[in-house]
Amino acid sequence: MTNLLDLDYEHLVSYIETFGEKPYRAKQLMHWIYQESLIDFNEMTDISKVFCDVLKDKTTIEFPSVMSDAMSDDGTRKWLFDVGGNNGIETVFIPEDDRGTLCISSQVGCALECTFCSTGRQGFNRNLTTAEIIGQLWLANFYVRQQDGYNALANSERIISNVVMMGMGEPLANYDNVVSAMKLMLDDRAYGLSRRRVTLSTSGLVNAMDRLKEDCPVALAVSLHASNDKLRDEIVPINKKFPIKELMAGCQRYLEKAPRDFVTFEYVMLDGINDSIEDAKALLQIVKDVPCKFNLIPFNPFPNSGYKCSSYEQIRKFKEVLMNQDYIVTVRKTRGDDIDAACGQLAGQVKDKTTRSLKRMNLT
Ligand code: SF4
Repeated sequence: MTNLLDLDYEHLVSYIETFGEKPYRAKQLMHWIYQESLIDFNEMTDISKVFCDVLKDKTTIEFPSVMSDAMSDDGTRKWLFDVGGNNGIETVFIPEDDRGTLCISSQVGCALECTFCSTGRQGFNRNLTTAEIIGQLWLANFYVRQQDGYNALANSERIISNVVMMGMGEPLANYDNVVSAMKLMLDDRAYGLSRRRVTLSTSGLVNAMDRLKEDCPVALAVSLHASNDKLRDEIVPINKKFPIKELMAGCQRYLEKAPRDFVTFEYVMLDGINDSIEDAKALLQIVKDVPCKFNLIPFNPFPNSGYKCSSYEQIRKFKEVLMNQDYIVTVRKTRGDDIDAACGQLAGQVKDKTTRSLKRMNLT
């Protein structure tokens, strides 16, 4: 059976053509599935009986199931979705006055081992399928609409106005499935989000960034976290393959076609590691040729992380150095930390296929 959620518009058109159906049928299907949240083919009133029978016979519309659903005091909501094999992925909805942001996972765990990241510590199992990625948006949309206080908005406004690919995993390491899912997010026949409202966060897979700017140029965030290669090699190990100079050149190329765009550099604030005034000044030097803004992320501690968050005062001073050079600098608010939904805390449930988690416990 083909899961229709695995197919973006182009793939869906090719697929239904094998049954002799015209492209407008793909548009109808996408309307029902993504805009009306309907998954029963019998209720799709403009689908012909013959095509409906083919769909029932050959296809399915399947989502991950809910393992847990937690709501924070501040309204942040976190789901753990079951993706089989005893694996769970996390998805977080962050409501704010003027927007609703959904943070989506792209892999079960992550293979890249950034040292300050809770997901990285869990090891890696597999890439998510397109259906499992877009399914997180479908499910969150569905559940939030049922939530108290949101009913009035249903059908009139987008409850999820922004998507950030910042959950578990390195999205560019699951390139094809992530791009197909993001095409559905941007497609007016599906969710119709503007490309500036979909942000992909990468630790810096420069070769894939070059592809992304051609295939699906969404807003780009880069997990930088260090202002020199020595430290970045240590805390973001992919830096050994794509060092800072190459990464900055990749960011410049990414923006070539959209001169009004910018890259958001994410920088986790680690006490005594990367948070000195000298670090801030060095940061200004390495980004000087990239139109950018900064998002400083107070480190969210997790067990045995070995790091502490920088003090409030140190974050303020670091921010000031950047702002004095006219950069826009935000300090990420910690949301949902009572349900472990804050940045870097997403751990899900990962059946590690690497030996990393065992090594860490000295079991190998
Ligand atoms: S920060 Fe991102 S790339 Fe690094 S280990 Fe965590 S999830 Fe993976």
